[in-house]
Amino acid sequence: MSSSKHYLIVGAGLAGISLAWHLRKRGHRLTLIDNGKNKSSVIAAGMINPIVFRRMTKSWRADEFIPYAYAFYKELEAELGVNFFHPITIRRIFSSEQERGFWEERQNDSEFEQYITPITADDTHYLGGHNPYGTGRVKNASYIETQNFIHNVRNFFTQNCTVLSESFEHSAFDPKRPNYRGVSYDGVVFCEGFCAPENPLFNHLPVQQTKGETITIYCPDLKTNESLNRKCFILPLGKDLYRIGATYVWNTPTDELTSAAKEELSEKFRVISDLPFEMVDQKAGIRPTTPDRRPLIGEHADYSNIYIFNGLGTKGYMSAPLLSKELCDHILNGSSLSEEVLITRFKKR
Ligand SMILES: Cc1cc2nc3c(=O)[nH]c(=O)nc-3n(C[C@H](O)[C@H](O)[C@H](O)COP(=O)(O)OP(=O)(O)OC[C@H]3O[C@@H](n4cnc5c(N)ncnc54)[C@H](O)[C@@H]3O)c2cc1C
Repeated sequence: MSSSKHYLIVGAGLAGISLAWHLRKRGHRLTLIDNGKNKSSVIAAGMINPIVFRRMTKSWRADEFIPYAYAFYKELEAELGVNFFHPITIRRIFSSEQERGFWEERQNDSEFEQYITPITADDTHYLGGHNPYGTGRVKNASYIETQNFIHNVRNFFTQNCTVLSESFEHSAFDPKRPNYRGVSYDGVVFCEGFCAPENPLFNHLPVQQTKGETITIYCPDLKTNESLNRKCFILPLGKDLYRIGATYVWNTPTDELTSAAKEELSEKFRVISDLPFEMVDQKAGIRPTTPDRRPLIGEHADYSNIYIFNGLGTKGYMSAPLLSKELCDHILNGSSLSEEVLITRFKKR
């Protein structure tokens, strides 16, 4: 291993801590800086779903992301002595005959074997919700208890590295050396989520601020340990609590809770079930999305050793573990990143 280097990571959300984990494992020193304004990684439902239901396709790079992510979360659980990773069955309640037809095509395709369960009579006659076209079960899905995960991983870094609870000030940064507040670093990685547009070094990149809200309901009669999906997801949290999500509002950098979202999600729940429920919580966050739905990763065009890791979008919990490993390899060994994620696809004007 090469001699230990010192990296500064700006932003300790999912992107920042995943990268920090890989760099530390390779024996490098870290300083993390986070201003506590996290509006995405701790709000997220943390679901990992290999299937995109609209046309029953596989999620981007699911075959690579999923095994790596599961090994990553299990490794963190073992090292930290906490439990936040939960395998779960997702039951898609079909919206149309066409959707059921797509599923039936895929269930005989070996490419989908590890994700799609062939429809049985029980799926067709499923009684746990309104079911006009039958249901299909997704295998190999899971969810991360996001607050628990972020809290414990950050605690680990607080004990083992330097963590600064403050805002990074660009006026105190010299990207040429690179040096921040009098300390020189071997590299700096910006993982600022939806705040990226405020970064003068990378504000030419199209990080969109996509607001999302979820509600948590108490519904003692629902009695399911599967995640149900049609129009919305219903994620069982235990003790008869269920998280319902999520809304999408583009170009909205606020985390205000709205009654419109509450109504929208209640209505969507009603598409699945008429059971009575009580609303117990509501959360709002801001996803860092991109116009082509691919992350934004790479080194600054003019300053070497200055990187960005952003644009994790709606599926960060699936992709961040492997993408952060690939970025770590790129930073340490110069190995190439996939063209699809490179920031060079968006030219500086
Ligand atoms: C309602 C909702 C539901 C979601 N559900 C899912 C889901 O089920 N599955 C899934 O995979 N994904 C989901 N997501 C998306 C997921 O949350 C994101 O993909 C991921 O968390 C983005 O992580 P990030 O680290 O890039 O950004 P963030 O989590 O936003 O982290 C960025 C960090 O940088 C810090 N920061 C920014 N600027 C500065 C600065 N100048 N100085 C210091 N610190 C700074 C912030 O405080 C923050 O902690 C959901 C998101 C929302 C909003």
